[in-house]
Amino acid sequence: MLPSIEQLNQSYNNSSTTVKKVVEDTLATINSKDTEINSYTEVFNTEALSQAEKLDAKLARGEKLGLLEGIPISVKDAILIEGHKATASSRMLEDYTATYDATVIKKLKEAGAIFLGKTNLDEFAMGASTENSAFGATRNPADTNRVPGGSSGGSAASVAGDMALISIGSDTGGSIRQPASLTGIVGLKPTYGRVSRFGLIAMASSLDQIGPFAHRVIDTAHILQTIEGRDEMDATSAQLETSQLLDIESIRQANVKGMRVGIPKEYFIDGIDADVRKAIDEVIEVYKTLGVEFVEVSLPHTEYAVPTYYIIMPAEVSTNLARFDGIRYGLSELQNSQDLQEVYRASRAKGFGNEPLRRIMLGTYVLSSGYYSSYYGKAKQVQDMIRKDFTNVFAEVDAIITPTSPHTAFNIGEKVNDPVSMYLEDIFTVATNLAGIPGISVPTLSNSGLPIGFQLMTNHFEEQKLLTLAQAIDNIRYDKFNN
Ligand code: GLN
Repeated sequence: MLPSIEQLNQSYNNSSTTVKKVVEDTLATINSKDTEINSYTEVFNTEALSQAEKLDAKLARGEKLGLLEGIPISVKDAILIEGHKATASSRMLEDYTATYDATVIKKLKEAGAIFLGKTNLDEFAMGASTENSAFGATRNPADTNRVPGGSSGGSAASVAGDMALISIGSDTGGSIRQPASLTGIVGLKPTYGRVSRFGLIAMASSLDQIGPFAHRVIDTAHILQTIEGRDEMDATSAQLETSQLLDIESIRQANVKGMRVGIPKEYFIDGIDADVRKAIDEVIEVYKTLGVEFVEVSLPHTEYAVPTYYIIMPAEVSTNLARFDGIRYGLSELQNSQDLQEVYRASRAKGFGNEPLRRIMLGTYVLSSGYYSSYYGKAKQVQDMIRKDFTNVFAEVDAIITPTSPHTAFNIGEKVNDPVSMYLEDIFTVATNLAGIPGISVPTLSNSGLPIGFQLMTNHFEEQKLLTLAQAIDNIRYDKFNN
């Protein structure tokens, strides 16, 4: 495993390695492994190396590197990096080059991070296995016959396969947490609005949120601290109050004594794999030894989360993807069309794969006059009830614990022809997006067989508590398996 951000920063500053060596080694790993894994859609070899040389020159001048300087990061190919392709793993944007940096990229660049390249995803972030990419499926480094989860499967696989130390993904219904769980790493979806979405190719704007993947919880805290905050380019981004800011030292200490965590009975259902259940129970037992108190809680509208999500999300997808019209962005059939309607029809038919098409149709239907109030309107009401479930529970507890996914990574091809079973992949993750609260997936203490993650959720902007609780298990896991 690559070291953590702090360890890497130390080895740069005490000259036990150079930035160039780390970047070269990581590029070599990509070179040897990624033909099979397919986590990257583009690798920035030359740029990454020249950036590394600049940082080494800084070290040679006797200066120290800041924490994120020289940290190798991969980025989901739905987030814009100026001058590079941003394909969203779609034919529609195959030849589209970003003309500006997403706000998160701008902030990471200012912090001196090194971008290694762009990672594969389910087309326009629609999917749970990274099989819906126009550029081929990504494989899970833990078992290459299996999926890495999705939609940020390329990001997760790049970190799990040591082809990046950190990756930046996006989560609309679980796309950071589920792949983190299936590949055995940490994935954080911050509170809606904590991180600017400017420069993220929109899927469902009221649910989308950018967040980090890492091996260690503390690294996700460092990245969040770098990318979070109000951005005038995203009206939904939040100005953080002082009490909402992260205290990294206290996260590191992970003092969880006296914290109360809810176990929602609706999430511990029959369909969960026995291995997953066992691993979560073990985590709960370990938390108890650290002084965490557990109480059973109820989130009564949980069963409506997936159906609600699959109305609100496609509604927003259908409007967001209307911009891909063959005129302004991406693939265009203008030259081969007789009239404007044909430009639209032909460009969209050729540019979009089946999953975006399915969701555009579904979304257009639920928003159509006559159906709007019975589908979209109703779903917005249920969303409110789901939100209130969480508000009620967080009046009693600091956090909630659940499995991230009901099972471990499934085989490539297993669910591709069954969209409903693929949609059920989101069963434990979508409610947090509907409620706008933060969620994190952390590897359990099980170290046999395929990776299993557990999920923690807290109230809005309570990432401090979320990360503190997550760090407690991360510390134990690290001591157990890395000594
Ligand atoms: N799997 C979910 C979906 O297909 C979540 C996707 C996401 O979070 N981007 O919509």
